[in-house]
This record gives sequence, C-alpha cells and structure tokens, in this order.
Amino acid sequence: MKRSRSHQAAVSHQEHEPRSAKKSQNGNGNLAARFYGMPLPGVRPEELSGNLIVVEGADGSGRSTQISLLTEWLESEGFAVETMGLRRSYLVGEDIDALLAENAVTRLTLALMYSTDFFDQLERRILPALRSGLIVLADRYVFTLIARAAVRGISRDYLHGIYEIALRPDLTFWLNVRPEVAFEREFKKSQTISYWESGRDMSLSNDLFQSFIRYQSLIKREFEYLSKRHGFIELDGERSIAEVNRALRTRIASHLGIRGTQYKPSHALAHLWR
Ligand code: ADP
Repeated sequence: MKRSRSHQAAVSHQEHEPRSAKKSQNGNGNLAARFYGMPLPGVRPEELSGNLIVVEGADGSGRSTQISLLTEWLESEGFAVETMGLRRSYLVGEDIDALLAENAVTRLTLALMYSTDFFDQLERRILPALRSGLIVLADRYVFTLIARAAVRGISRDYLHGIYEIALRPDLTFWLNVRPEVAFEREFKKSQTISYWESGRDMSLSNDLFQSFIRYQSLIKREFEYLSKRHGFIELDGERSIAEVNRALRTRIASHLGIRGTQYKPSHALAHLWR
C-alpha cells in the first residue's frame, strides 16, 4: 500500500529518532538561528521539525539529477520529501518566465520578482512542509539569487538584507564545476545555451561561449565568497554522478541519523546513474 506523505512523515519521526532528538536538544536559542535575522512574522522556529537541504551550483552542475536521486533515496528510507526551485511559485513563477522571454524587466525589478517568488514558496510550500516534519530539497536557494543580482551591480548588503528573514538551511551543498565543463554538459543536454544562463544581458562578449564562461566565472566568484560566509559544503561536481551522489548521501545520512547509505536507483531513474 502506498503511504501518504503525512503518514510517511510520522513514520520517519519514529524511525529516525536522532533527528528530532538533535533538534530538541538545541533549545530555543539555537532554534532562533534557523533564520538569518528575525524569524518571518508568525513563524515559531520550534514548530519546524523538518529539514531544509539546499543544493546549489551553476547550470549544468548536476543539481536536478542529484535531487531526483536524493528524493528517491530519502523516500526509500521512509522520509517524505518536498521540493522547491526558482520560478516555481504559484504567485509569480509564470510571470517571471514571461518577463524573461520578453526581456521586459530591469535588473532591480527582476531581482525583486525573484525574491517575491522565493518568499511565496517559503510561506506556502517550505514552511508547511517543515512543520509536518518533511525533508525539503531545494534546487537552488537565495544564494543564486544574491549572486546573480550582485554580479549585475546590486549591493550585496541590500540583497542580504532582503533575504535576512529567509530560513537558514540545515545543509547547503555547492556542486562546484568549472564553467567550461558546465557549458559542455548544457550544450550536450539541450543543443543550445539560453540567453540568461550565458549572461547575454550583461554584454560580456558577442561570442556565446565566451559570454557563458565570463558570466559563469563571475557567478562562481560570488559563490566562493558566499560559501565562506555561509559555510557551504563544497563538493567536486566534476566527479561521476554516482560519486557525487555518494558524497551527498553520506553527509545527509549523518545529519538525519540514517545508518546505512546503500542506494541503487530504480529502473525509472537508472538513466541518470552514469
Ligand atoms: P543542473 O540541474 O545543475 O542544470 P543537470 O542535473 O540537468 O544540471 O545536469 C546537466 C547535464 O549534465 C545532464 O545531461 C546530466 O546528465 C549531466 N550531468 C550531471 N551531473 C554530471 C556528472 N557528475 N558528470 C557528468 N555529467 C553530469
């Protein structure tokens, strides 16, 4: 019988006692540190029994591949999983797609649209999931939004101020790959490179490859800074999919109190495992 998400969450609480035990030992002081600044209005940090796990990285770094695999692994361990990603809010996700397609938005208003998209998902998807004890896997988080806006000249302090009321992830992984590798993977995957992922709006080069490399190098530099500031767990995203996945599982298992980290993808996901 297929277990409902809430049932799975309840079961996972019983089966993975170390996780809730670890959270309750923290006491209110540390629970407040679940936010960078003041908690969002109306949110009590001690209600959030789930875990927020972020996977950051450039286009082509392997985030979505790893999130699919991690979702299957965590569900096989009895956890219920929710996912989030950029431009996925019901409120403005499609509006941002339309604005990007028409290139009809300024740098600042685009950054603010993205922050609206983020906070709508935070309030309507992430927090309810964390209150129910789920694992939220985030395919990118505020760090990408800060990096993209910062390389376009928006003040880092201003951006950190906007996201001060965001929830601090339990774990943030950075899949680090060289821009050249990301380009090759992206091109192989879709035979094209998008206007935005190559930073064409920034007029860095008329050559698509050069523009991508320069833009992604700027983003990478922001990530190096953000990684130090926020304590990312940096992984070499150029290792094989199976090796990256093993590194992710080892770290997540230790955080959640999962003893074994054995995993082989199902038939449905076997094509991702190379
Ligand atoms: P992202 O979500 O970060 O843009 P994807 O997961 O879509 O990246 O991966 C982009 C492409 O690169 C896909 O074709 C994927 O199969 C491939 N890929 C992902 N991770 C690796 C890896 N570690 N080694 C080689 N190819 C990879």
